[in-house]
Amino acid sequence: MAYLTPKTLTCPSCGHTGPLSWITGVPLDNAPRAGRGYVKVHKSGDWTVEKAEGETVVRCPTCTTEVTRRSLKP
Ligand SMILES: [Zn+2]
Repeated sequence: MAYLTPKTLTCPSCGHTGPLSWITGVPLDNAPRAGRGYVKVHKSGDWTVEKAEGETVVRCPTCTTEVTRRSLKP
């Protein structure tokens, strides 16, 4: 199963703001074990989303400042 986490992000550099939703997938047995499941961007709005080493990096579309990043694992 999976659930959505809608966020409103604001760029710390230029103040650009907009919505971005994360989707978190969890194993069917729901056992809380490290390294299982996934975290991905569901709807990125106009944010620039990059894949980095084991992480998703979200950058501002106007000034390319890194706004947030999250591990690919919950
Ligand atoms: Zn910006």
